[in-house]
Amino acid sequence: MRKPDWYCDEVIPKLIAVDVVRETDEVLAFRPPIPGFGADHVIVVPKLHVPSLLELGPELSIELLGVVQDVARDVIDEHGGCQVLTSLGDEQHNRHLHVHIAAGEGVARFVSTSDAER
Ligand SMILES: [Zn+2]
Repeated sequence: MRKPDWYCDEVIPKLIAVDVVRETDEVLAFRPPIPGFGADHVIVVPKLHVPSLLELGPELSIELLGVVQDVARDVIDEHGGCQVLTSLGDEQHNRHLHVHIAAGEGVARFVSTSDAER
């Protein structure tokens, strides 16, 4: 049985209200109803089901990355910086490729140690 896929089941068919940030024929960028991490959180997904970054083809890569770049520029303008992140393997909880663009309180931070600072 197929695992629940929030993106294909609810977000992309627009059965749930999300704040759409950008949309192309193939790609949707939106703010989820509750930010998953970061004070500002945008998620970018291909509209067709792609399981992860590892299965993303070259043409859709260009379109998806272009949307990520556009959104990230806006987020940087607003917040000064952001993180762009996608998870793979056991760290990927929803098996539909999704790229997080996150800014502000709650983003992942390096733990500063003397070794890490070298
Ligand atoms: Zn999907």
